[in-house]
Amino acid sequence: MSEQHSHQIAVTPCGDCQAGVMRLQFITYFTWLGDELVLVPGFPAWICDVCGRREYDERAVSWLSTLLSPNAGKSTMRRTLRRTLPKVKREPSRPSSTE
Ligand SMILES: [Zn+2]
Repeated sequence: MSEQHSHQIAVTPCGDCQAGVMRLQFITYFTWLGDELVLVPGFPAWICDVCGRREYDERAVSWLSTLLSPNAGKSTMRRTLRRTLPKVKREPSRPSSTE
């Protein structure tokens, strides 16, 4: 009963400005794949609320690089990238922001 675990995400102090904290936000991540620009909406990133420093979630990046890897499969894989995105639960209390 009292074991209710807080679902708050632990904040990480920014290593850059040392004044802000890194907060988890969902942004549109973009990367170049050859000469093609690949957009990944809803990509988790840790963003400093003071200096704006961005750090991408390690697992998400490795997941993405696996998907984008030439060895991962057919070249058509990137076309289905949006559909293979894992559903991310958004906090209902949080104002919707796609940035
Ligand atoms: Zn910072």
